[in-house]
Amino acid sequence: MASFKNFEFDANGVNAWGHDAALLARARKLHDPPNVTMDGHNDLPWTLYQAYEHRLEKVDLREPQEAVHCPALRHRYLHTDFPRVRKGGLTAQFWSVYVPTQIRGDAAVQKTLEQIDVVHRLCEKYSGEMGFAWSAADVRRIVAEGKLASMCGVEGGHQINGSLATLRMYHRLGVRYMSATRVFYSFGGVAPRRAPGNPPAPRRPPPTPRSIGR
Ligand SMILES: [Zn+2]
Repeated sequence: MASFKNFEFDANGVNAWGHDAALLARARKLHDPPNVTMDGHNDLPWTLYQAYEHRLEKVDLREPQEAVHCPALRHRYLHTDFPRVRKGGLTAQFWSVYVPTQIRGDAAVQKTLEQIDVVHRLCEKYSGEMGFAWSAADVRRIVAEGKLASMCGVEGGHQINGSLATLRMYHRLGVRYMSATRVFYSFGGVAPRRAPGNPPAPRRPPPTPRSIGR
């Protein structure tokens, strides 16, 4: 049975997986600034809502979260904290601002705004560890400062409630991608799987993200 023990290296620099310590060290160096190691999707904002109703005073992400039991979560503890971010060499993160497809219409827009708000509040609370990136230049600057560059991505097209003005306003709030069709038909796109009860695709032109911002 695999365990984290198996990653430990013997005197010859080889671990139970046959990984070579010198090769891993070279691979890890690729993560070092000024290189940017980016994760495109992390659902921490919604998880913080499930776990703590976005009350950030109830959690300290500077501490390892594995030992912090959180009964509201199916997986029992938060999977993201700054010790893990550093250990993994992560330097840039798209935080997913996620709203389940069961929440639709105006409520989906409100819940999206709440997720974007929590990303900004995280950047304020942990200003020594992370910074909000509005541009690629911001990402490079924040990474060079040794912090986690943070951006937002809207997870589902239903979150703009059929309104391109809402999409444009999300962009002004720092959103830099939207995955149009997660488990929902939107803008004539077809989701990889259709959630039960979802309505058919509206007949609308797809948004053109490249026309918004740079
Ligand atoms: Zn997600």
